[in-house]
Amino acid sequence: MTDRYAVIGNPIGHSKSPLIHALFAQATGQDIEYTAIEGPPGQFAHAVDAFRASGGRGMNITAPFKLDAFGYATERSERAQLAGAVNAMKFEGERVLADNFDGVGLLRDITHNLGCPVKGKRVLLLGAGGAARGALLPFLAAQPAQLVIANRTLEKAQDLAAQLAAQGSVTGCGYQSLGHQPFDMVLNATSASLRGELPPVPASVFAPDCLAYELAYGKGLTPFLRLAQNAGVQQLADGVGMLAEQAAEAFAWWRGVRPDTRAVIEQLTLPLA
Ligand code: NDP
Repeated sequence: MTDRYAVIGNPIGHSKSPLIHALFAQATGQDIEYTAIEGPPGQFAHAVDAFRASGGRGMNITAPFKLDAFGYATERSERAQLAGAVNAMKFEGERVLADNFDGVGLLRDITHNLGCPVKGKRVLLLGAGGAARGALLPFLAAQPAQLVIANRTLEKAQDLAAQLAAQGSVTGCGYQSLGHQPFDMVLNATSASLRGELPPVPASVFAPDCLAYELAYGKGLTPFLRLAQNAGVQQLADGVGMLAEQAAEAFAWWRGVRPDTRAVIEQLTLPLA
């Protein structure tokens, strides 16, 4: 019998996940069906219960339900706990296993697809929301020389840095403290780009040979990427590779086989212009 999976969000029409997982299933010869479910506001648990009752084996979760999924799960990975958000679930009888693959997907895209090792690098992470939080444990495990979290709401960046002090060199600050020191990687994990806004980051954060990475995808040259380009940054990337890699992690977790992401990334990449 065909195993069933789905992504749940609201709105969900824009989601690339059904296409990505269909391509993965085809490439790996896995017999799965993967659909998109528009979860009614406030009805997350009801919608997931119904999907499980109909034989669902696992789900991806996107906005606005990542926190609901955290509450729904019976077991959460360490990185999901730190992120406070869940983007994948696996159903095993009464157990609901939950994880967050956004951070590992981002790390893999940067190290594997873009060929930029994190070890020994100075990394600046803009934002302290779900995506930024999900990235912290995987990034610290990759041993950067330094990880600075800058956020508009200063306390969130400081709280996160304090929670992670034992894991490596990590500090939290506001944007006004930036500008005195260049970084080898600057990652925009704010949601500013979704509204065409620029986080108040000074152009002096970009070191020569810096990678500027925009987590949002399909938006072309966002104000953040434009700032980096105008500052002379050669390596610009958006989050399409992260999207494909987090999907591959979930697929591997569910099916025990990790698909190659190259064809998916090629198909979904839009020019940064
Ligand atoms: P959240 O809503 O959880 O967090 C938003 C963050 O952005 C907060 O830190 C907030 O600061 C900050 N922020 C919002 N507007 C501004 C602004 N104008 N200036 C400065 N900071 C701002 O969002 P997510 O973490 O879920 O998503 C962040 C980004 O990551 C989005 O662009 C999303 O599309 C992308 N993403 C990409 C994925 C992929 O697969 N490529 C997967 C998941 C997310 P404050 O705390 O002060 O409010």
